[in-house]
Amino acid sequence: MTPSVSALKTSPDCLFCRIIAGEIPANRVYEDEHCIAFPDINPQAPTHLLIIPKEHMVSVAKTLEEHKPLLGHMMATAAELAKARELEKGFRIVVNTGDDGGQTVHHLHLHLLGGRRMSWPPG
Ligand code: 5GP
Ligand code: ZN
Repeated sequence: MTPSVSALKTSPDCLFCRIIAGEIPANRVYEDEHCIAFPDINPQAPTHLLIIPKEHMVSVAKTLEEHKPLLGHMMATAAELAKARELEKGFRIVVNTGDDGGQTVHHLHLHLLGGRRMSWPPG
Protein backbone atom coordinates (compact mmCIF):
# COMPACT_ATOMS: atom_id res chain seq x y z
CA MET A 1 0.00 0.00 0.00
CA THR A 2 1.31 3.44 -0.88
CA PRO A 3 1.18 5.80 2.10
CA SER A 4 -0.18 9.25 1.35
CA VAL A 5 2.12 12.13 2.20
CA SER A 6 -0.33 13.27 4.87
CA ALA A 7 0.13 9.92 6.65
CA LEU A 8 3.87 10.47 6.92
CA LYS A 9 5.66 12.48 9.58
CA THR A 10 6.27 15.99 8.25
CA SER A 11 7.51 19.24 9.74
CA PRO A 12 5.54 22.35 8.66
CA ASP A 13 8.51 24.72 8.82
CA CYS A 14 10.84 22.41 6.91
CA LEU A 15 11.79 23.50 3.39
CA PHE A 16 12.00 19.96 2.03
CA CYS A 17 8.71 18.92 3.66
CA ARG A 18 7.16 21.89 1.87
CA ILE A 19 8.64 20.69 -1.42
CA ILE A 20 7.20 17.21 -0.78
CA ALA A 21 3.82 18.77 -0.03
CA GLY A 22 3.99 20.74 -3.30
CA GLU A 23 3.98 24.11 -1.53
CA ILE A 24 7.39 24.96 -3.00
CA PRO A 25 8.00 23.96 -6.62
CA ALA A 26 10.68 21.47 -7.58
CA ASN A 27 11.22 19.49 -10.76
CA ARG A 28 10.67 15.92 -9.52
CA VAL A 29 12.87 13.83 -11.76
CA TYR A 30 12.07 10.75 -9.68
CA GLU A 31 9.40 9.78 -7.16
CA ASP A 32 8.30 6.62 -5.42
CA GLU A 33 6.39 5.91 -2.23
CA HIS A 34 9.45 6.55 -0.06
CA CYS A 35 11.46 9.36 -1.63
CA ILE A 36 11.72 12.03 -4.32
CA ALA A 37 14.65 13.43 -6.29
CA PHE A 38 14.98 16.90 -7.80
CA PRO A 39 17.80 19.18 -9.00
CA ASP A 40 19.65 21.26 -6.42
CA ILE A 41 18.82 24.96 -6.83
CA ASN A 42 22.55 25.79 -6.63
CA PRO A 43 24.22 22.99 -8.60
CA GLN A 44 27.84 22.13 -7.82
CA ALA A 45 28.30 19.79 -10.80
CA PRO A 46 26.63 19.20 -14.20
CA THR A 47 24.43 16.63 -12.43
CA HIS A 48 23.43 17.66 -8.92
CA LEU A 49 20.32 15.97 -7.60
CA LEU A 50 18.91 15.85 -4.09
CA ILE A 51 17.29 12.60 -2.97
CA ILE A 52 15.08 13.09 0.07
CA PRO A 53 12.78 10.82 2.08
CA LYS A 54 9.09 11.74 2.11
CA GLU A 55 9.12 11.30 5.86
CA HIS A 56 10.77 14.13 7.76
CA MET A 57 13.95 13.07 9.51
CA VAL A 58 16.57 15.56 10.55
CA SER A 59 19.79 13.85 9.58
CA VAL A 60 21.52 10.52 9.23
CA ALA A 61 22.80 11.08 12.78
CA LYS A 62 19.22 10.58 14.00
CA THR A 63 18.76 7.27 12.21
CA LEU A 64 16.52 4.80 14.00
CA GLU A 65 16.59 1.05 13.46
CA GLU A 66 13.35 1.33 11.44
CA HIS A 67 15.00 3.81 9.02
CA LYS A 68 17.76 1.48 7.87
CA PRO A 69 15.83 -0.02 4.91
CA LEU A 70 14.85 3.49 3.78
CA LEU A 71 18.47 4.66 3.82
CA GLY A 72 19.49 1.66 1.75
CA HIS A 73 16.64 2.36 -0.66
CA MET A 74 17.75 5.98 -1.06
CA MET A 75 21.35 4.95 -1.71
CA ALA A 76 20.27 2.40 -4.32
CA THR A 77 17.96 4.99 -5.89
CA ALA A 78 20.86 7.44 -6.17
CA ALA A 79 22.88 4.77 -7.99
CA GLU A 80 19.97 4.11 -10.36
CA LEU A 81 19.65 7.82 -11.10
CA ALA A 82 23.40 7.98 -11.76
CA LYS A 83 23.10 5.06 -14.17
CA ALA A 84 20.15 6.69 -15.95
CA ARG A 85 22.28 9.82 -16.38
CA GLU A 86 25.13 7.75 -17.83
CA LEU A 87 27.56 8.68 -15.07
CA GLU A 88 29.51 5.51 -15.75
CA LYS A 89 32.82 7.36 -15.25
CA GLY A 90 31.85 7.93 -11.64
CA PHE A 91 29.87 10.12 -9.32
CA ARG A 92 29.72 11.15 -5.70
CA ILE A 93 27.00 10.73 -3.08
CA VAL A 94 27.29 13.24 -0.22
CA VAL A 95 25.33 13.37 3.03
CA ASN A 96 26.24 16.56 4.88
CA THR A 97 25.42 16.03 8.54
CA GLY A 98 25.21 18.65 11.28
CA ASP A 99 26.90 22.05 11.44
CA ASP A 100 30.47 20.80 11.03
CA GLY A 101 29.29 18.57 8.19
CA GLY A 102 27.94 21.60 6.31
CA GLN A 103 24.27 20.65 6.57
CA THR A 104 22.04 23.67 5.92
CA VAL A 105 18.64 21.99 5.41
CA HIS A 106 17.71 19.85 8.37
CA HIS A 107 15.76 17.22 6.48
CA LEU A 108 17.95 14.26 5.58
CA HIS A 109 19.09 14.30 1.95
CA LEU A 110 21.60 12.71 -0.37
CA HIS A 111 23.44 14.85 -2.89
CA LEU A 112 24.15 13.01 -6.15
CA LEU A 113 26.97 14.83 -7.95
CA GLY A 114 28.43 13.87 -11.31
CA GLY A 115 29.54 14.95 -14.74
CA ARG A 116 32.91 16.32 -13.69
CA ARG A 117 36.05 15.08 -11.99
CA MET A 118 35.74 15.34 -8.20
CA SER A 119 38.62 16.36 -5.99
CA TRP A 120 39.64 14.96 -2.63
CA PRO A 121 39.72 15.90 0.21
CA PRO A 122 36.42 17.79 0.18
CA GLY A 123 36.41 21.33 1.51
P1 5GP B 1 23.00 20.83 2.61
O1 5GP B 1 23.87 22.06 2.62
O2 5GP B 1 22.00 20.86 3.76
O3 5GP B 1 23.74 19.54 2.52
O4 5GP B 1 22.17 20.87 1.26
C1 5GP B 1 21.01 21.62 1.09
C2 5GP B 1 20.91 21.88 -0.39
O5 5GP B 1 19.61 22.32 -0.66
C3 5GP B 1 21.87 22.96 -0.90
O6 5GP B 1 22.77 22.38 -1.83
C4 5GP B 1 20.96 23.99 -1.52
O7 5GP B 1 21.46 24.53 -2.72
C5 5GP B 1 19.67 23.22 -1.73
N1 5GP B 1 18.46 24.02 -1.68
C6 5GP B 1 18.16 24.97 -0.75
N2 5GP B 1 16.94 25.48 -1.00
C7 5GP B 1 16.48 24.84 -2.10
C8 5GP B 1 15.25 24.96 -2.84
O8 5GP B 1 14.34 25.74 -2.54
N3 5GP B 1 15.12 24.15 -3.93
C9 5GP B 1 16.10 23.28 -4.31
N4 5GP B 1 15.88 22.53 -5.40
N5 5GP B 1 17.26 23.15 -3.62
C10 5GP B 1 17.43 23.92 -2.53
ZN1 ZN C 1 11.24 17.91 6.50
